[in-house]
Amino acid sequence: MIIIMNPEATKPQVEHMIERVESMGLRSRPIYGELHTVIAVVGDVTDEHRESLSIGPGVHEVLRVQSPYKLASREVHHDPTVIRTGSLTIGGGQIAVIAGPCSVESREQMLTTAEGVKRLGACAMRGGAFKPRTSPYSFQGLKDEGLKILAEAREATGLSIVTEVVAASDVELVSQYADVLQVGARNMQNYQLLEAVGDCDRPVLLKRSASGTLDELLLAAEYILDRGNPNVMLCERGIRTFESHVRFTLTLASVPYLHERTHLPILVDPSHGVGRSSLIPKMSAAALAAGADGLLIEVHPNPEMALCDGPQSLNLDAFEETMTMCRKIIEATGGTLAEATTAEV
Ligand code: PEP
Ligand code: MN
Repeated sequence: MIIIMNPEATKPQVEHMIERVESMGLRSRPIYGELHTVIAVVGDVTDEHRESLSIGPGVHEVLRVQSPYKLASREVHHDPTVIRTGSLTIGGGQIAVIAGPCSVESREQMLTTAEGVKRLGACAMRGGAFKPRTSPYSFQGLKDEGLKILAEAREATGLSIVTEVVAASDVELVSQYADVLQVGARNMQNYQLLEAVGDCDRPVLLKRSASGTLDELLLAAEYILDRGNPNVMLCERGIRTFESHVRFTLTLASVPYLHERTHLPILVDPSHGVGRSSLIPKMSAAALAAGADGLLIEVHPNPEMALCDGPQSLNLDAFEETMTMCRKIIEATGGTLAEATTAEV
């Protein structure tokens, strides 16, 4: 951390700040410039130190030098994290496509989708049993029955299950069925839920909040890592902006940016990111060209009849077209499309 003093800060003010830094058990290195005096602060600096020092006399600004997150940071862990669970592998050049309906609606719908996406190259399936809906009157998911249907689809296809958990009290139940626990955009900053998934042994797919910054996403991941769960994958799913032609604004620059900052695998969800099925094949390809380690795509055998997110769901033909484009990009960028395997975590 560095403390930048005002140009008119007096010598006693600088000395006072040095004393305050040292009284916190930190070391100070003042640098006297022509205009500003800057105090470099060395030691185990916390947010509380930073806030308290920023209101000292003569202080212009206090800046962080290191990332606020540690376990998620590339500064601490350079090599990319590779996550393997059941049929899913992601990270380190292995590109995972996770596909399936927004929500589990019936046995037939889930089995047809799981078999279709597996045949076309997905290595895991998605499907929400617990659905966090904007309106309390919308379909909320089949809950326990949905989890059982997902387990049946895994039995039939061998595909790992990625499904959302919306409450800390449900983590135990959902972990009995899911291979990967999804924490949705609305819950990115539900710290009790983050701690609960951090305490369990299932990999976690953490989605960016529609209004969350990338630092906030990384700090949310830090909660999970800090509880001892090292298997966290991040997912860009678009943010809310003034643009209304697409459902959210899919900020693909976050993919290479996050790769610079963190060793965790990065997925992109083009379905929620744009909200219109016609745009998804190209945005999937663009996400992979930007370096995404995986895609989370909504696929429904009959999007017109979907109970949730039909307009952004691909049918199996459109998913096939998307996979054809994706394979070309993966080849061009030197990655490998992860095949459904049976490796354990
Ligand atoms: C989902 O993936 O089904 C979902 C609800 O997405 P998000 O949390 O990104 O809105
Ligand atoms: Mn959805």
